[in-house]
Amino acid sequence: MRRILPLGCLFVLALASACDSSETDETDSTGTQTGGNIPVGGSPVVGGAGGAGGDPIVGGAGGVQGGAGGEGGGGGAPPTCDGTPAECAALWEENASDRFDMLVGGPQDQLEAFLTAVPKGGDLHNHLSGAVYAETYLDWAETENFCINSSTFAASASGSCGGATQAVPTSGAFYDDIIGAWSMEGFVRGGAETGHDHFFDTFGKFGAIAGAHRFDSIADVAIRAASENQVYVETMFNMGQNVGGLTDDNWSGTLNESDLQAAYDLAINDPSFDAELQQDVNSVDQARTGYRTALGCAGASPPAACDVEVRFIAQVSRTGSRATVFGQLLGAFEMAAQTDAIVGVNLSSPEDEVSAASYDLQMAMLDFLHQQYTETGVSPLRVTLHAGELTDTYGTPAALAGNIRKAVEIAHAERIGHGLSLLSDANPQALMDEMRDQGVLVEVCLSSNVQILLVSGSDHPLATYLDNQVPVALATDDQGVSRSSMAGEYLRAALDQGLSYRQLKLIARNSLEHAFVPGNSLWTSIGDAEPVAACASNDTMGVGDPPDATCEAFLAESERATLQWRLEHNFREFESQQ
Ligand SMILES: [Zn+2]
Repeated sequence: MRRILPLGCLFVLALASACDSSETDETDSTGTQTGGNIPVGGSPVVGGAGGAGGDPIVGGAGGVQGGAGGEGGGGGAPPTCDGTPAECAALWEENASDRFDMLVGGPQDQLEAFLTAVPKGGDLHNHLSGAVYAETYLDWAETENFCINSSTFAASASGSCGGATQAVPTSGAFYDDIIGAWSMEGFVRGGAETGHDHFFDTFGKFGAIAGAHRFDSIADVAIRAASENQVYVETMFNMGQNVGGLTDDNWSGTLNESDLQAAYDLAINDPSFDAELQQDVNSVDQARTGYRTALGCAGASPPAACDVEVRFIAQVSRTGSRATVFGQLLGAFEMAAQTDAIVGVNLSSPEDEVSAASYDLQMAMLDFLHQQYTETGVSPLRVTLHAGELTDTYGTPAALAGNIRKAVEIAHAERIGHGLSLLSDANPQALMDEMRDQGVLVEVCLSSNVQILLVSGSDHPLATYLDNQVPVALATDDQGVSRSSMAGEYLRAALDQGLSYRQLKLIARNSLEHAFVPGNSLWTSIGDAEPVAACASNDTMGVGDPPDATCEAFLAESERATLQWRLEHNFREFESQQ
């Protein structure tokens, strides 16, 4: 069993001086709650004073076994197997699959423990502000003397509480009420407030704390990932505000598709563009070093979370002004050309409401920028988009029928977040064929989907995507708000979607195959777990064992393959103990 960093240490590290307090715009993705029938969640792995406690499932006391999936690991009795490494790997996989099958029909806590420990690859859809548990935010807020509005539960950094606000509680009814207002904890369906609204309203309530704690929040995400045996996370937060603001300032009137070239020229030719861009880049680079400082990664005993590879996705809210959205998208491409901390861009906020009217324009923006930056090789930025996160209740007919397709065909999205409205497309079979052939992965967020949109079970298109060989990966979306975790998503996949152990294993492999980290893949055929020739298993070495010299040379050239090798190592280690 691997050591888990004492989570409380985060609370005394990297406070205001190290944080970018300029970001308070913490809009997010999706979410919902009231979960289906499956509790998925857990208490805050990181910190948290206990408080309201989450759903009983995955998560529980925090730490959990598993480990960060570092290179070493081990623990438990050495496995006994007389075959070749490849033969033993097949045997151990079978054992793990059998144990999973047994647990699915047994006590849920044992299944939770199994799914917490199982290697999971990466979390590709993780909103930073929504990833942190309310208890953790309250700990930070209490330390820094924030105030909480007694009726709206919105946090503010006023420092002098009174009147409508109170000091941050550490227990009691007010504390519990705040947890409920800042997450889906205790939310009951059927009242005046929908899960959809409750979920999205949380972000503005803790936003002031989240904005002042970016480094701590990333560290929190890394710790949780390590505790659930992940090796990789792409977390998204708002960035590029300077270039976004400059672009907006330079444009007067309504920005339309025919204006994109002019707006682009105005922005990049502005005398202050380079300086504004540099500030945006600096902010991101500081986040990359800042969270590692918060974790103590340079110390003598770095925690397992330091072994989790973290990359950033530039999150741009659909609800900003047209020119601001364009400027932030433009800025994301520019930033990625300067720092490899940023690997992708995503549009967030619901596809319903005000953003629906701008959807086509935003797709055109990404197409324009693809031509400017991607086709020319100027920027390595990749595109993943929330698309089809809709049901009849929230989506216009046009959005339901077209958003996923437009994201793939116009905006060059290589991954789709949610993709729930698949079957509303005019030709879903052709769309799935296209996604499969182009390798467009669907980031499936089961907790969020049932909580926000009440989509679960056979209403969820996950099985349809799987049947049509469209690659999918499980992701957390907003695990703090959802009171979930990656293991919780796996639990839903097992119990609500009926996935098998080997399907979950393929999903974990998919997450790294479609991560935006650079480098060639370890696999020539991921479905068959067929590695490249340089790393092909033989009688004395299987994938996941220490690589031989040829394979090591291959891995040295590829961050992706290195992560994939770590995942296979972790699978070998995990399965051999089942
Ligand atoms: Zn999302």
